[in-house]
Amino acid sequence: MQKLQNYIDGRLVEPASKEYIDNYDPSKGEVYSLIPDSNEEDVNRAVNAAQKAFPAWSSTSVEKRCEILMRISSLIEQNLDKLANAESKDNGKPVSLAKAVDIPRAATNFHFFATAILHYASESHSMGDLGFNYTLREPVGVAGCISPWNLPLYLFTWKIAPALAAGNCVVAKPSEVTPMTAYLLSEICIEAGLPNGVLNIVHGYGNKVGSSITSHPDIPLISFTGGTKTGAEIAKIAAPMFKKLSLELGGKNPNIIFEDCDFDKMIDTTIKSSFSNQGEICLCGSRIFLEKGIYEKFKTEFVTKTKNLVVGDPTDSKTNLGAIVSEDHMNKILSYIKLAEEEGGTILTGGNQVTLQGDHTNGWYIEPTIIQGLPYDCRTNTEEIFGPVVTLIPFDNEDDLLMMANSTKYGLSATIWTENLSRAHRIAARVHVGIVWINCWLLRDLRTPFGGVKNSGVGREGGVEALRFFTEPKNICLKL
Ligand code: NAD
Repeated sequence: MQKLQNYIDGRLVEPASKEYIDNYDPSKGEVYSLIPDSNEEDVNRAVNAAQKAFPAWSSTSVEKRCEILMRISSLIEQNLDKLANAESKDNGKPVSLAKAVDIPRAATNFHFFATAILHYASESHSMGDLGFNYTLREPVGVAGCISPWNLPLYLFTWKIAPALAAGNCVVAKPSEVTPMTAYLLSEICIEAGLPNGVLNIVHGYGNKVGSSITSHPDIPLISFTGGTKTGAEIAKIAAPMFKKLSLELGGKNPNIIFEDCDFDKMIDTTIKSSFSNQGEICLCGSRIFLEKGIYEKFKTEFVTKTKNLVVGDPTDSKTNLGAIVSEDHMNKILSYIKLAEEEGGTILTGGNQVTLQGDHTNGWYIEPTIIQGLPYDCRTNTEEIFGPVVTLIPFDNEDDLLMMANSTKYGLSATIWTENLSRAHRIAARVHVGIVWINCWLLRDLRTPFGGVKNSGVGREGGVEALRFFTEPKNICLKL
């Protein structure tokens, strides 16, 4: 069975413990590889390597850094099929999705930040005859990057690429649930000639590797994407150490649909925003708010289209929804469906585990599920489920809608469907989230600030925001 290795100081190495964790193929529910069960010792080795590499990497010209990061981007593109198949096997998502979204986007993350640094200028402030200021933006040193399992390589590179481009060295931890493409990335970095120690990847559990990164005194910056509860634990450790912190956390996003929307465009996109990646995207619109006059028409068509979605083998090109990432997560989603019934909801379609035939019988699958009839403030409508489950909630007017849409502790993203642009802008301004899509979903421009408010996170990444986060400003004032 394949044994993954840590990537420390430019080499693929065993964990200090020599222990390994089982890695599952969720589409079959079986172990197919082993992951290093790393600990504090491995993190210390990684930090030492990163510290050693930092003086040379941070003073490498931006042109040279760009060239190396572009080589990594090209190698990801060249290995599209291999990486997409690996991502699908590790996570359960359809290969077609990994090929169209996850892996191309990972390549773009490197490409985008490799070239962004060529155009990045810092500020100067003239004080007329008195003098002037200029602001240096210096890399912070060793950055800690911790990522989740839902978009494994996509989100891992979303952090690593700007951190490295800005001149930092990195100690990174992918999710122990989906480590494979991070491992393949370490092979790519070696092939691309990334200098030793610039990027270090330590595999293993969150409470060992993740917390060692968070609490390490020589890691002054943490970029974390994952659950809100984990984010709170990280903040508790990092705050008294005065670390720079970016937290991209959970969501319970409203998908707001008015009667005057472009119905066909809206319904096709709503299928995607509800069930793409088995609903395991932090930006999925899990609460669908419908203006009363469109409720019945929407319900009928949405249920029909959802029933046509194929839950199946992720390698089959006809599959729309693949496997749920783990047995634990599948059981969590099923428990929320049960809770929804207990809370008085009616399941319009779905609601059950799916058992496939042949060698996929032990895989973890759930039908795409639509629920109606729940109060807006019940647990099903306020807690993150993170699976193929959406609820339908009618509304009478804008005030009513906004009161309900803003009633959860989350505030990541929102989608608004209307042809009335004044209304769209009005709602966009009043909905408490970090990202709003009007008449679209997941249309991404990497220059824009990305992140949430309330319990969905702290700080923003993306574009200049990421380069600012991964550098420290130093103002220098000169009196003339
Ligand atoms: P998680 O919080 O369980 O794990 C995320 C990462 O943190 C993993 O690498 C894990 O090993 C590590 N970790 C766990 N405990 C830790 C600790 N004590 N200290 C340091 N690291 C620790 O999240 P998950 O289940 O992997 O991912 C799903 C969650 O991520 C959902 O809530 C989803 O909304 C969120 N998410 C948010 C965004 C966003 O951009 N806001 C994007 C994707 C996913």
